Amino acid sequence: MNSAFIYETIGFGKVYIDKKLRESVKNSIDNVENKDQEILNNKSVTIYKSAASDLLQQLKAFYETCKDCKKCKLSEQRTQVVFGDGNPYTGIMFVGEAPGADEDVEGKPFVGKAGKLLTQELERVGLLRQRNYYITNVVKCRPPDNRTPEEQEMLTCSYILKEEIKLIKPKLVIALGRTAAVGLSGIKQISPTKVRGSFISANLKSPVLAPGTKIFVTYHPSYLLRNPNELSNFREDILKIKSLIDSLR
Ligand code: URA
Repeated sequence: MNSAFIYETIGFGKVYIDKKLRESVKNSIDNVENKDQEILNNKSVTIYKSAASDLLQQLKAFYETCKDCKKCKLSEQRTQVVFGDGNPYTGIMFVGEAPGADEDVEGKPFVGKAGKLLTQELERVGLLRQRNYYITNVVKCRPPDNRTPEEQEMLTCSYILKEEIKLIKPKLVIALGRTAAVGLSGIKQISPTKVRGSFISANLKSPVLAPGTKIFVTYHPSYLLRNPNELSNFREDILKIKSLIDSLR
């Protein structure tokens, strides 16, 4: 059974499911008694749909409910709300600050210059967005002139990230830069230069994570564009992330 066929048949040509899920789908397919090809194909599509589309459907349905969000003033100047992107099934979740100009236009996170740098650095170690991780932001609407989101804007927007986390149930959460680390952990003072490459714990004030949840912190890619001499440290962090991911498999 060609798995690409199954994905394409149901319109998920670019979605990759994680190893465990793939194996359980494969086992279910192998257990189908009637080997008539047509029945087998239909059966596998049904199994894949029920096993894999749930989370995506739930995320999509949730995003649908907040695409017209006007809970804060960022809604006044945004082009669109920018939700998460990538593979939600692996439980690996990168979290950034807020969409920039390119993301605001394209409707996807991390597609501008900083995003391209991040994507490229992750690809160097074999981590692909559509296959290996999900990526989203603390704040889903572009702040004017790319200013840092205000504390109240982060809190107001946290209901979206909280729901993404509830649905995805991440095994590894990675904060890209200070704003993400603060928004995820509830800790007000964080210096990525001091804590990068290590875990911090969410405190009681975290609006999105249970207290004690570990968050791996690294630099925001925009910081690297301004401080290219930190790229080697960032690459060190990426290697740590890669081995953490490998150990979770
Ligand atoms: N910076 C972010 O924090 N998020 C994006 O989506 C793009 C740039």
